[in-house]
Amino acid sequence: MIDPNELIRWYATAQRDLAWRRPGVSAWQILVSEFMLQQTPVARVEPIWLDWVARWPTPSATAAASAADILRAWGKLGYPRRAKRLHECATVIATEHGDVVPDDVDTLLTLPGVGTYTARAVACFAYRQRVPVVDTNVRRVVARAVHGLHDAGPPSTRDLADVAALLPDDDTAPHFSIAVMELGATVCTARAPRCGVCPLTHCAWRSRGFPAGTGPARRVQRYAGTDRQVRGRLLDVLRDNASPVTRAELDVAWTTDPAQRDRALDSLLVDGLVEQTADGRFALAGEGDQT
Ligand code: SF4
Repeated sequence: MIDPNELIRWYATAQRDLAWRRPGVSAWQILVSEFMLQQTPVARVEPIWLDWVARWPTPSATAAASAADILRAWGKLGYPRRAKRLHECATVIATEHGDVVPDDVDTLLTLPGVGTYTARAVACFAYRQRVPVVDTNVRRVVARAVHGLHDAGPPSTRDLADVAALLPDDDTAPHFSIAVMELGATVCTARAPRCGVCPLTHCAWRSRGFPAGTGPARRVQRYAGTDRQVRGRLLDVLRDNASPVTRAELDVAWTTDPAQRDRALDSLLVDGLVEQTADGRFALAGEGDQT
């Protein structure tokens, strides 16, 4: 088991000062941070998030922005489909939920772009509910401290029940949830756990002498040369131009592999992030029909 008291005490002094954890941040703004953090590290998210919530503090303000402005503000966070889904989510909250982010997991799960993790994170972090919140960091801490394993293995349907069983029964449960996550992000990291500064008195993996993992080695995700990189380059060209550009202007963004560039452009069109004008030029979503 994990002692909630030692973990919560540690969190009170060791937590990172992240902008979306400060007093006065709304449930919507926490939801925005969760969208951004889904696949992007904290350090890259924070400046973009600060600009974003200053410009569009509410769901209705976000919904009123143009699709192209949303994509420009998303900048280099990557995986830009998230920006489109966040825009759709803002629209649904503004029109169907009175501009207020729902506070229960089931309703949150009906929103565009909101999956199991995000729904629970918002219910817990914004509304202080006693719900298990399970991400990669939490799974790793539980695997090590509770089960004595080096790593958590692939996600399983048991993960939620596993974490739910650890939650305190009182109103400290949300503090416990965020503290476990913070421990996994800053101390019990995947590659180099800092057991010497860990606040947990009992850790099954440490007690067992740190047995090696038996799963496959972690694959390092490559970015250079991937379709993701090509999509990013093409979007950069369109973000920098307020009016549609020609195919030739787009082509210079990626000359290494024309077939890969065509595939990336097709996928951006299919995703609705880019559109084509009647005369064959290209623009960010919503900006193609302005000429
Ligand atoms: S003692 Fe080490 S392995 Fe165990 S929870 Fe703490 S940091 Fe992780």
